[in-house]
Amino acid sequence: MGTEDLSLEEPLASEIAAVLRELARLSQRAGAPEVDTRFGNTVAATMLEHLLALFAAQRGAILLAVQEDGPEQHNFLAPLQAQAIRPLALHELREEEAYTLLPAFASPGTQGSEVSCWLVDRLALGEFAVEPELAHAYLPASSPALNREGSSPTQASHPLQALLVLGWDVLADGTCSSAVERGRTLLPFISDAAGAVIIHLLLAERMQEVELTAAREALQHMELLKAELLATVSHELRSPLASIKGYAATLLRHERRLARAERHQFLLAISEASDRLEQSIERLLEMSQLETGAITLERSPVDVALLAQEAITAAEQGLAAQAAGHFSFKLHLEHADGTPATSVPLIMADPRRLREVLDNLLENAIKYSPGGGTVTVLVRPTMQAGDPHPRMLEICVSDTGMGIPAGHLERIFEQFYRVDLRLTREVSGLGLGLAICKRLIELHEGTIWAESALQHGSTLHVLLPIGEMDHV
Ligand code: ADP
Repeated sequence: MGTEDLSLEEPLASEIAAVLRELARLSQRAGAPEVDTRFGNTVAATMLEHLLALFAAQRGAILLAVQEDGPEQHNFLAPLQAQAIRPLALHELREEEAYTLLPAFASPGTQGSEVSCWLVDRLALGEFAVEPELAHAYLPASSPALNREGSSPTQASHPLQALLVLGWDVLADGTCSSAVERGRTLLPFISDAAGAVIIHLLLAERMQEVELTAAREALQHMELLKAELLATVSHELRSPLASIKGYAATLLRHERRLARAERHQFLLAISEASDRLEQSIERLLEMSQLETGAITLERSPVDVALLAQEAITAAEQGLAAQAAGHFSFKLHLEHADGTPATSVPLIMADPRRLREVLDNLLENAIKYSPGGGTVTVLVRPTMQAGDPHPRMLEICVSDTGMGIPAGHLERIFEQFYRVDLRLTREVSGLGLGLAICKRLIELHEGTIWAESALQHGSTLHVLLPIGEMDHV
């Protein structure tokens, strides 16, 4: 280099600026969602091309390494095995050749001591902790970084470092070209930016891996749900159908031989199974209509006390004779202050849809109380502090049945969700009742939630706005 001025004169500075701009662009592109994981190596290769041109070097490499012994170890190459390095980009340089240059690296910004025509620098990757999966991706299985005695690879977390190696052919007289001197000036400026790009690449790759895994897991979960759903739906449709077919076939075949009472029993069973089938089909249809927004409310002033009494009477009548003796039903009306009342404020609601919600809640209270018990419906207005008028009406349907485990209290409102307890598995159901209730209550701008103590019963709360009666 001799007399040449080594300070950063204008053309050199703008050259560096151009490369830095390009590196920043590549770095941004590395984070783009559509970039695939091989992009890392491509960018590293492009980056190396730029650097080689800028330094007028002929050969070079960018190598990724793992620092084994923590940040206090200044010379991170000392404990490093050649195998623990992954070449990110090589240019006219063989991998082994690049490895042999590693000892030339001492500390940041230092020129290699043994081979005068090589410049080796550490790219500033900072403390980039390697997740175990990433370490596996970057390092061969034999790497000491993965197989350190006493530590499993799952606990391994190593700062990543990258090396930048640039090379020039030795001149005929055995000296180095002036490009080496120039490179020596430029290298510290460039390596920071190049290091930032590599960090970005690694993070982008890691993000993509994580996202891919998450997407794959979500897909598997969906597939599982779909299979479970099909199994539940087909069971709920096929079992009543099988009863209907069985009883009908027996009636047809042995009509004459069956006593009148037996025939009546068979017909009753057919009728019950058809009701179950019809209910399942209706629920499936209703859920899909709610999903597509095909259901609209027809609001009118509704006396919820009356509606609840009708629903209780229907539930009582619907109970099989042997179960009827095990249940008692109560309707409580209260004022907002908790004192007993004889009526509650009317609310603006769709009476048909509200009745459906009450029927569903009562049906569950009975279904999930296998030993019978008390089912209580409480209706009361609720007041907010400082408001002289009640704005909401609360309906609570309580039972003394098996209860709902705490972790399931929110999930029971999801479509097709059923608590997988031994007892609930024996009770038939599609897992749609509460999902439909939730949608219907939300259409009323209300809320629904559950409280429960396992083995001590559940309470389903519904909170509905009373609404303005003048708008009728
Ligand atoms: P289904 O009763 O058809 O299974 P639902 O949507 O009505 O569907 O209820 C979802 C799940 O919530 C039920 O499978 C049951 O596990 C649980 N559940 C609902 N109501 C009660 C209740 N009153 N007591 C105990 N568990 C209940």
